Amino acid sequence: MSGNKKITIAHGDGIGPEIMKATLRILEAAGAPLEYDEIEIGEKVYLRGVTAGIEDSSWDKLRNNKVFLKAPITTPQGGGYKSMNVTVRKSMGLFANVRPVKAYHPYIESHFPDMNLTIIRENEEDLYAGIEHQQTEEVVQTLKLVSRPGIESIVRYAFEYAQSNNRKKVTCMTKDNIMKHADGLFHKIFDEISTEYPDIVADHMIIDIGSAKLAAVPENFDVVVTLNLYGDIVSDIVAEIAGSVGMCGSANVGESVAMFEAIHGSAPDIAGKDMANPSGLINGANMMLVHLGLAEYAEKIENAWLKTLEDGIHTGDIYKDGMSKEKVGTQAFADAVIARLGQKPNTFAPVEYSADAKPIAINRTYTAHSQKKELLGVDVFIDWAEGDRNPDVLGKQLEDAQGDFFKLKMITNRGVKVYPGGMPETYKTDHWRCRFVKQDENAEATNTQVAELLTNFANAGLDFIKTEQLYQFDGERGYSLGQGE
Ligand code: NAD
Repeated sequence: MSGNKKITIAHGDGIGPEIMKATLRILEAAGAPLEYDEIEIGEKVYLRGVTAGIEDSSWDKLRNNKVFLKAPITTPQGGGYKSMNVTVRKSMGLFANVRPVKAYHPYIESHFPDMNLTIIRENEEDLYAGIEHQQTEEVVQTLKLVSRPGIESIVRYAFEYAQSNNRKKVTCMTKDNIMKHADGLFHKIFDEISTEYPDIVADHMIIDIGSAKLAAVPENFDVVVTLNLYGDIVSDIVAEIAGSVGMCGSANVGESVAMFEAIHGSAPDIAGKDMANPSGLINGANMMLVHLGLAEYAEKIENAWLKTLEDGIHTGDIYKDGMSKEKVGTQAFADAVIARLGQKPNTFAPVEYSADAKPIAINRTYTAHSQKKELLGVDVFIDWAEGDRNPDVLGKQLEDAQGDFFKLKMITNRGVKVYPGGMPETYKTDHWRCRFVKQDENAEATNTQVAELLTNFANAGLDFIKTEQLYQFDGERGYSLGQGE
């Protein structure tokens, strides 16, 4: 039908096909102007030897249709299979993971009947870049990478989301008391962007106390924006304490493409039995409708769904004697929602999207700043387990080999200064960060001098395993000081 929006769908594995069928029936009964382009994902694709769980031919559909409604999939056990979700997120630039979590008390038990918040998690960066190296026998590293464009996108998305969903507050969570550069940049950009949204309260919490407060007083939060790893953890905590893991939908949103799903998995233990609760995928589909600019249909479905819960028509996972009225299967639950389309809940507040609710559009085009970048020195990481691990012995070897441009300023072991003048109690691994600065402060350093320094070390038999250049940008130090430096 013309005027319909074409979306990509995938029926997934386990309970996927059943809950997708229920969801599509509700969408159709609500009159949502959609048409479907189906792709195959998950177990069957993995077992055909496609390690990403999605066929190459599906990318064009995702790209062209732009919106993807996805049922859960089963990732086969054993090595070699990559997470399809992670592949789609990264390949399609789905930078924002959006998870609204609400308590549906008293129909679903929760210690926090008033909680109603949304976690917005950065989805592309942080420790999830997957760049890891074993550098010495004892030490392995994972790189935590964050970028100004990446942070700007997610923070702006959080404020735009708050604005279009009538939310009052955005709380940023970082660990910038420790990671002053990576998490510090996130906090700084949050402060910068918050000034553009004067009607929304902006606050910041350190992630440790922030997660504790989310678990203790979730009703105090509205929208939370945070980095990838923290967001991964807190979004599961809040879904769990709301008692609604089976009810939550989520969105992964990019500049062009977006993917919507339930947060639970494929539940193979109940697959094919018409027992699954389709609510998670229904809520994912509602987020999709809002994203498509079809909020009126989301409102209709959400209100009918809330009324169904209130009327005590419950699938087995949420059925409770005394509270529930009727235990139903997946399709009968969908029928009950369909029968209530056009009705509003009585106990729950009816959902209302503002008439001009529009899809959130984030322009990620980044204009490079032209900062002045100056090389001040270099950290050379050395693999060394000799001399009883006495840092004075290593310090002397480095100083003998350093040449006449750079000089050794200090050595740290896992961040703690051990030379000159360390504490004998400090535990020392075989991984030494050796900081070199210019002997003549006024000299101009380039990578040529760094290469010469490394050549000197190679000739002296010193095993360098990594370097990090020490820069300043527009006169501001771009690296952390060592503990005790
Ligand atoms: P799961 O969420 O599938 O199941 C956990 C428990 O919750 C099970 O007892 C299940 O019966 C129940 N459950 C889940 N959804 C339900 C629903 N809608 N209605 C009623 N009960 C429901 O988690 P799992 O068992 O750890 O994982 C099973 C498979 O799902 C694995 O292969 C996993 O990799 C995959 N998985 C996929 C996704 C996804 O596609 N986004 C997410 C998580 C897990």
